[in-house]
Amino acid sequence: MHLGDLTVYHDGRLSRYDDAKVGLLTHGLQYGTGCFEGIRGFWNAREEELYLLQLADHYDRLAQSARILMIELPLSTPQLCELTADICRRNAFRGDVYVRPFAYKANEDIGVRLHGVKDAFAMVAIPFERYFDTNQGLKVGVSSWRRIDDTMAPARAKITGTYVNSALAKSEAVMNGFDEAIMLSAEGHVSEGSAENVFMVRRGVLYTPDPSQNILEGVTRRAVITLAKDELGLDVVERALDRSELVVADELFITGSAAGIQWIESVDHRPIGGGVRGPIAGAMIDTYDRAIRGALPQYHSWLTRTYAGTHAAAS
Ligand code: PMP
Repeated sequence: MHLGDLTVYHDGRLSRYDDAKVGLLTHGLQYGTGCFEGIRGFWNAREEELYLLQLADHYDRLAQSARILMIELPLSTPQLCELTADICRRNAFRGDVYVRPFAYKANEDIGVRLHGVKDAFAMVAIPFERYFDTNQGLKVGVSSWRRIDDTMAPARAKITGTYVNSALAKSEAVMNGFDEAIMLSAEGHVSEGSAENVFMVRRGVLYTPDPSQNILEGVTRRAVITLAKDELGLDVVERALDRSELVVADELFITGSAAGIQWIESVDHRPIGGGVRGPIAGAMIDTYDRAIRGALPQYHSWLTRTYAGTHAAAS
């Protein structure tokens, strides 16, 4: 389907993507005063069902981001969940999707601030297959750009403007021949990737930076912690990780809604765990994949059915 023909939601009503416009001076565009989510939906061909993943977790985080930016969301979490399924139904998606809800400051005038500026909200959903076009291990580089600190701009909020930090790190990494960047915090501990959280396996224990390391508190990160404990029986430790621990790790992987779980082959050209996919990363990838496609009944609460009963999806 052509992007311009997609049904989207903007300013309280449904419209065609091509008809939903913002003005050039829009505050969110000029000053980065917006916040957003990245949500995935996975097509289950056998059931002819599109499973939307962890909607409530994403909308609760959007509400937190909005609170930090003094933005009032026009809809509650349950209403946003319903709207997401409605938009996917109207577009009759029959494949994996990516949903991008965003709230932003909408005045068209000059003057950077958060207070006294009107808010707007929109949601776009598009067909989406893969973020990294590989199942191979990723080559990552430790970035010369440090992760933003909470005293400067909060990483726990998913703020449009702060993605300049991620973009600088990602482009530096790719232009240096890597697939992805890992950023250190201002204090020099491991923080996260440009759009993924970081996990390390050492001596059978799973480690990940705790929220005080200026990470986005990832929805996938939380799901992985749950699956690691409950399905794989692993100990999971959230603490500050040193850069050198990455080099001596048995396994490394990164997690995100768009990226899924991707194992890391090398850091700064140094192979991790012999440069092959480790057993714990492999088990996590398999378990996560089954959970998000509806194959593990104990995790059905993570999933929202798009078509259940309606079967408007027939093309
Ligand atoms: N960190 C950053 C900076 C991100 O943009 C993302 C993607 N939203 C993540 C981590 C992973 O978060 P989630 O699992 O909620 O997608």
